[in-house]
Order: sequence, then structure tokens, then C-alpha cells
Amino acid sequence: MLENDTIAAISTPLGEGGIGIVRLSGPDAYATVDRIFACRKSKYTSYPEPRRLYYGSIQDHKGTPIDEVLVSFMPAPYTYTREDVVEINCHSGIFALRAILKLVLDSGARLAEPGEFTKRAFIHGRIDLSQAEAVLGMIRARSEEAVKAAALTLQGELTQKIEQIREKIIEVRAPIEASIDYPEEFTQDDAASNALPESLEELKAAVSYLLQGVDRNRAYHEGVTVAIIGRANVGKSSLLNALLRQQRAIVHEEPGTTRDLLEGYLNLGGYPIRLVDTAGIQGTADPVELAGIERSRTAAAQAKMLIAVFDGSAAWTEMDQEIAALRQAEQGRVVVINKKDLEQKLSPETIEKIFPGEEIVKTAAIREDGIQQLEEAVTRQLDLFLGPEAENTTVFLLRHEEILREALVSIENAIEAISNQPVELVSLELQNAWQKLGEITGETLSESLLDKIFSEFCLGK
Ligand code: GDP
Repeated sequence: MLENDTIAAISTPLGEGGIGIVRLSGPDAYATVDRIFACRKSKYTSYPEPRRLYYGSIQDHKGTPIDEVLVSFMPAPYTYTREDVVEINCHSGIFALRAILKLVLDSGARLAEPGEFTKRAFIHGRIDLSQAEAVLGMIRARSEEAVKAAALTLQGELTQKIEQIREKIIEVRAPIEASIDYPEEFTQDDAASNALPESLEELKAAVSYLLQGVDRNRAYHEGVTVAIIGRANVGKSSLLNALLRQQRAIVHEEPGTTRDLLEGYLNLGGYPIRLVDTAGIQGTADPVELAGIERSRTAAAQAKMLIAVFDGSAAWTEMDQEIAALRQAEQGRVVVINKKDLEQKLSPETIEKIFPGEEIVKTAAIREDGIQQLEEAVTRQLDLFLGPEAENTTVFLLRHEEILREALVSIENAIEAISNQPVELVSLELQNAWQKLGEITGETLSESLLDKIFSEFCLGK
């Protein structure tokens, strides 16, 4: 797994900008850049001073300057990768950056794979796997809350808590193991003494604590899909537009013309929201329309929450009834009665009877009337469905959550086993929990899974 060559990549986004950075890491990072860098003034004689910015130009093999740059040299081990690192600050234009990267590669470096810098930081022990994943979490964060959670994990909060739990497991297992190995000195009764159930309960509480608020954390991090559903022409696209406050969906006069899923992103109450507009659900023989309806059902099924839209100026129809029935268990919903600017045919009593106790908002989408109330209702429903504000914000990845849940099951099995099973079983369950939790920090994770995790990173990180 340990690769020892020198890697390079463009570490800033490709596009026009003030500064772009080409980064190198590895034993030949200094020499590689030295071959193409002409320092303007006091060129360092043998070795450049660490962390000083050197001004000069990157030149091709004929000595033609390619760009004016600032170069910093950072010797191992106090770098991101714990290897020698060199950063070339140049102008950020696609061709300028690529030209410099090409020269760096011609000069001896290898193009880094996605996430390879971070992978090296992990392999060299500068960060553990949960911290590496937090780096990715930070890069991908789409809300302030997600940034905070990633920062805490990056600082090692989760690592520390996981390590404490794993140490505690070893402590709890020690007397059990002793009683198994030396039955004449420690009886199994000793091992299953009063202290054991208590310690196991403590372990259970520690793992449960980490899972508290995880739904909300994950929503802050991954975003939430909210589907706008309703029969054709009730005003779904108009609502989407009003919510996004920009004309992204095209509003049609004819019923049933919104055939494609249209979507947009917005932030409500700190949640990054993916808002999906779906084709109206209606009884039709048109195959294109039918395909659209199927997609609606799928979109509705995959959404965390629904905005179910009805036309207040029209009588209640069977189709409306079908829409009302689309809500699944564990799914939040806000009911919108649109077109409140027109004469109303749906009485408040009818609506209240169909959706008792639910969040109901009246809007006039084309006038952007009632939109703020709708936003507030959506946020309230999300808060309700995603559970209480997280007391700790360290777990925000599905991978971590799944591992914690599996570890919790093992600990619960161990608790159950104390009363009626041999202590070997208690020990085995604890061993499982210890092993599982190690997958969060990466200590007990297979190489292929590690590769999969790092391959999700962007180039240059
Ligand atoms: P969709 O098929 O559910 O996406 O509905 P659209 O958003 O395409 O709207 C269908 C028609 O209803 C269009 O002519 C809109 O201008 C109109 N409409 C949408 N919302 C309102 C509203 O609040 N009041 C009135 N009077 N018309 C609306």
C-alpha cells in the first residue's frame, strides 16, 4: 500500500481565478520543481528554506518562461502528507495550470490519483480514516452546520470518542478472557460479576450517544430531497419557481405538460434542500405522460418529505385523492392549497377533514404569496421528522452510522448473553464491536474498502 514516488496534481478548481496551485508530494518533490523553476532573486544555493515563498518563473526545457509564480517548499514530516511537499502558486487559468502540471510531470512526477494526497496523510498516520473522510465532508459541505461537523471530526473528536470506547471494550474483556484462559484461577462467576453488566451498559450508552441526532446531522451534510407532488396544473412548477425565486421551471398552460423532473437547490433552516418538481399524476393513456407519472411516484417514494399541492379553486378529484394517499410512513408532508387568489371551491373544513392535524399552507404561487409561510412549514416539518437538535455533531456519514449501529447490536447481544450464555459468547460479541468500531478510524478496514473511500475524493486533494 505504501507508495513512495512523487505525485503531483492541480489542487485548485480548474477555471479562471486569481491563484491556482499545482501541488507535489514525495521524496523528489524539491528536485522535480527545481529543474523547472527559475528563482528571480537570491536563488537558494543548495536547499531552499522551508515554508518561505520564492518568487520566480516556471520555465520549459528551452528556458522559455511559462508563468510567473511563487513557490513554497515544505519538508517532511510537518506537511499534509508527512512527505516533502512543494506548492507552485501560479495564475489560475485552465491552460496555464495544465501547462505547469505538464512540465512538472515531464520533470519526473506522476499524476496523483483522486484523494491520493489525503490517502498518504492517512497511510503516514497524520490523520485517521474518519478525519480523511471529514476532509471530503468539508470540501463537499453544503451548509454551515455541515462545515462545523466536518471541522470537529477533522480535529479528531470522533477518533477520540471511538478510541475511548475501544479501550473500554478491551478493559471489559480482560477479566472475561482471563477466566476463559485460566479457569482454575478465575471462575466464570468472577468474570460475570456485578461490574460486568454495568460496564456493558456504559458501553451501550457511549455508542448510543454518538448516534444521537445522526439523522439531523446527515440531513445537514447530505441535504434533503423534497418532492413537490400534485395532479397536473395545480401550480407545482409555479411553486418551485416561487421557492427558488428564479425562473428555472417553465410554466405551461396545458395540463400535464410538465413531463420532466425539474429540480433546484435551496437552503431552509440550515438544511440544504433538493427540491424536485414532478409530472402531475393523472389517469392518462399517453405513454410519455405515463412514464412521467411513474417517475413522479419514484421521486415521491425517494423523497424525505412531500409538498402535496392542490388547487383551491377546483373541486376535489379522485386524482387529488391519489396524491393524498402517496405519503409513506416516515415521510414528512406539507399540504399546499394553491391559487388562493381565485374563488375557492375547497372549503377549509374539507381540507381539515382530509388532512387532520397536518401542516396546511395556502398560497398564490404566481403572486409569490404565502411562500414564506410555506418555507417555515417545510422547516418545521423537517425539524420534526429529523429529530431533535444533535447534542453532538461528530457523526454525519452513513458509513459511520452503519458501523455504530452494528457495534451497538453486538454490545446489546453481549448484554443479553451475560445472563444465560457462556462468557465466551459475551467476549466474542465484544470482540465484534471492537473490530467494527476500528473500521471508523480505518484501523481494521480492508485495503479495497480504503481504496474505494479515497477514490471518491476530487483530484488534487
Ligand atoms: P403544474 O402543472 O402543477 O406544474 O402547474 P403550473 O405551475 O404549470 O401552473 C398551471 C397553471 O396555473 C399556469 O397557467 C399557472 O400560471 C397557473 N397558476 C399557478 N399557480 C397559480 C396561482 O396561485 N393562482 C392562479 N390564479 N394561477 C396559478
